[in-house]
Formats: sequence, C-alpha cells, structure tokens
Amino acid sequence: MTSKALVRDGLHYATGERIRITISSEGRITEIFTEDGVGRIEEMSADGIDSKISGAASAEAGSDGGEALATYGEHSVRGGDGEVWIAPGLIDLQLNGGYGIDLNSLPLTSESVIRLTRRLWETGVTTYYPTVITNGDREIEELVSAIDQACREEALTGKSIGGIHLEGPFLSPEEGPRGAHDERYIRPPDWELLQRWQDASGSRIRILTLSPEWPEAPEMIRRCVQSGIIVSIGHTAATPEQIRQAALAGASMSTHFGNGAHLTLPRHPNYLWEQLALDELWCGFIADGYHVPDSVIKVLLRAKAGKALLVSDAVYLSGMAPGSYRTHIGGEVVLTPEGRLHLARKPELLAGSAMMLADAVQRLAASGLCSFAEAWDMASSAPARAIGREKLYGLTKGARADFVMFERNGGKIRIVETVLGGVPVYQASS
Ligand SMILES: [Zn+2]
Repeated sequence: MTSKALVRDGLHYATGERIRITISSEGRITEIFTEDGVGRIEEMSADGIDSKISGAASAEAGSDGGEALATYGEHSVRGGDGEVWIAPGLIDLQLNGGYGIDLNSLPLTSESVIRLTRRLWETGVTTYYPTVITNGDREIEELVSAIDQACREEALTGKSIGGIHLEGPFLSPEEGPRGAHDERYIRPPDWELLQRWQDASGSRIRILTLSPEWPEAPEMIRRCVQSGIIVSIGHTAATPEQIRQAALAGASMSTHFGNGAHLTLPRHPNYLWEQLALDELWCGFIADGYHVPDSVIKVLLRAKAGKALLVSDAVYLSGMAPGSYRTHIGGEVVLTPEGRLHLARKPELLAGSAMMLADAVQRLAASGLCSFAEAWDMASSAPARAIGREKLYGLTKGARADFVMFERNGGKIRIVETVLGGVPVYQASS
C-alpha cells in the first residue's frame, strides 16, 4: 500500500529532544532529524536511542521519581504540559479483546476484529497479537480463521496484527497454574493439531504459550522454533529442570510472569525463580497494579533488565465504561474506574485484566519503578526485540513508520495521532 509522504515534528519520548520524522510514500521512516539548541539539524543515530542520548526521560519531575535502571543514565528533558511527544507505536503481544469484542467467543466475525483493531489505534497500539486461549479444536480453528480473514480483508488490520498468540491448550491441568482455562480442553502438546490450526490461521500463529511440564514439550518447542513460532512458558506447574529444558529447546519468553501459578509454592527451587534466573527468557508481565504487586515488578525489572515487557492481557470488557457487567460465561463482574475488573460477589477475586497498554505504561511510570521512557520501551521496543522484529518496528531510520503522537497532561497520556505504516489511522478530535 502506498500513502502520501508525511512529516511530523515533536519531542522524542525518551530524550526530550525536538525531532522531525520524514516518512516515504511507502510508509517507511526516511530520516529522523534532531534540532540542537542553535537550530542546527543533525541526523540521529540509526538505532534510535544511541549511547549519547540513552537518558531516562524525566518528563515531568515528580511523576517519574523512580531510580533509573542501570541501562539508562540521567538526562534532562525539555517540554511539559501541552507539548506533543513522538514515540514508537505500542506493541501488545497478548490481548484477548476489548471494547466489548471478545476474540475468544464464537461467532467471531472479521468485521469485529477490524473494529477492535481500529479502537486499539485510539490507544496508541500499532501492533498486537490477538490471543486465542484454550478451547475446543474446532473453536480454535474458527477463531484463528476469522482473524486471518480480517487481515486479508483489510490491509491496515493485516498490518496491525503481527501474528496470533495461541495461549493453550497445551497448558498445565493443575488448579492454579491453569487459571481460567477450560479444564476440558487442556491437553499435551500435539504438533499435528497445531498444524491444523496454523493452516486455518493462514500461518499467522507466531506465539505459543505452553507448559513445559508435558514430556512432549521439548520436541514441540524445537519444532515450533524451527517453524518461526516464539514459544513462551506459561500456565505451568513444571519443575525447574523442565523449565531449563524448555529454554534449551528454544523457549524464549515467560507469559504474564507471576500469574497463572499456584497460590502456594515451595520457597525454592520453583518455576518462578527458575524463569527469573534464565537470562534467555523475555519476561512478559501485566502492569495494571493488580495482577502482580509492585515489589514483584521491581524485582523482575532488575532480574530481567532490558528483557522485561508489558502485555495488557486485556479481556473484552477493557475500554468499556466502569460499571457492572454480566459475562457470557455467567456471573456478574465489576469494572472499577481505576481499571480493576473483579467478580461482583467476591471483589477480592480478579476477573481478568482490563487495562490497555498506554494506561499500564502511565501507571508503571507513576509507580516510580521506572521512568516514563522505560515504561514506554517495555511496551514497544522490548516486545519488538522479543519477537525479533526490532528492524521493522521502532523510531528508527528505515523502520516502518508506526508511531504515536501524544500529550501528557498531569502525567496522563492523551493520544493525539497514531500512524501505521505512514498512514494516520487515528487523529484525536481536539
Ligand atoms: Zn493466561
């Protein structure tokens, strides 16, 4: 697809420098210029945040008060309320739905997938991995097929969907690790079955969350990795040895670390420590403030420096107005104004995640655990690296022009414009 060439000016989300991005008619970033104090314009390093500008932005003193991680230095930043910032588009590797659209309930039409994609653009997400969870064989086949159809029907939706994340059904059958996944459909890894779903998906299944506790897991992981599927460890009751074997076989990620686990574990060793200790594993986590406590986030940010990434794991009620909802699987749930989704009868029990990525970035930055720029990176450049697409996505010369222009008023992000492949796909009405 071709589009009109674009130029955008704004403040770099991490350095605070005023930059100008030029975009080719093919939707690639052709140049990123930075203006120094005397108005001279020089080209930025091709890999984006280079060593010279590797500062952790403290965009607004007070809101980002956390101690910077070792990989980032100090950097003072211009700009405050009312300025427009430019950042790479957000990448959500795990999203089950939103705005009332459930990617896991049938019938799923391509039209609803397209509609959901458009709503995500409003939140600054330019790439996402629709996540299909444990279900019957035929149901999974139909769901992934509907997602594929949406990608083929509408080019921009196809551009926005990086791949499908299949979370299950090769998970732990144990209570606790299994989480809300339907026990009836949990099964050992089955390559032939995965191929059937892969065919139905137009080969779009790119991430598979499985539990390494099955004897079939290492072989499954090897075959997946060979065929270009990222394998992520999750919903597991695996032994530390099985976790290590999974990593040896090529598993490279942890799915929503700290969730989908036993309520009580041997203090050590256990599958949590083991995953934290394996440097080859990227660590996906939900940063809504409800799924894992900030103390755990602080520890995983340090243990996984540079390899932590944010996922929304958002359910279909995300993005809806606060209030009470009756879910289709039965039961009343409540979505609070703060974005906490819980069972109506047992408010202490979460009913899924309902915080979109931009809000999680904002919350994480406000928590003081990292800077705003670090939080944004964990929801953009980190997931891009985790899936091996850092050259395609990013605020760098030659990358696809997927970026977000936003304002920060009182610490709150307001998306002004979202650009996907050089096409403005969302513009806020001012
Ligand atoms: Zn899960």
